[in-house]
Amino acid sequence: MSEKELVSCDHKTVESSGTRKLVVNCKRCEKEHSLSDCLPSLILSLEDEYNIDSIIVSDFLEEQYIGSGVKILSQIRDIAGEMETFSSRGEDEKKCMECELKPSILYPRLKRKFIQDPGIIYEMIGNISVKVERKENCHRCRRSLVEELEILGNRAISLRSEVLKEGFDIIG
Ligand SMILES: [Zn+2]
Ligand SMILES: [Zn+2]
Repeated sequence: MSEKELVSCDHKTVESSGTRKLVVNCKRCEKEHSLSDCLPSLILSLEDEYNIDSIIVSDFLEEQYIGSGVKILSQIRDIAGEMETFSSRGEDEKKCMECELKPSILYPRLKRKFIQDPGIIYEMIGNISVKVERKENCHRCRRSLVEELEILGNRAISLRSEVLKEGFDIIG
């Protein structure tokens, strides 16, 4: 996937008879007419939209996601949001300046990769866990990362169980 900046898809929220619908217009998105191509942008579209009951993605065809589909997409959004929050953890120690795991560098990168391909989260967590053991990282980052990775890991587990339950096909 290209390195160009990710932006949300054109979207709006429509409320009718007590339900909230996110209507995503992908007609002008550069993609190959499949949800997985627009997934990162769709996740970003969900970032400021909570309590959505259904999602309509329209390009040439119209696809509707309800129930579990919405839940899965919202879980991905929440994990990405957690990464965003972790990225602003303070970097107090001088060693943080050169720490390869400093949150302001690590998490934005992680978030970007994750929303492009949510299925790789386990691998990402595993890779970082290995790095956490290395001496060149500062204590503070190491200590915080252990907790943060556990939180992300638990969220990833519930995401996976939802995906498996539904056989939702956007995540490998
Ligand atoms: Zn789109
Ligand atoms: Zn550090």
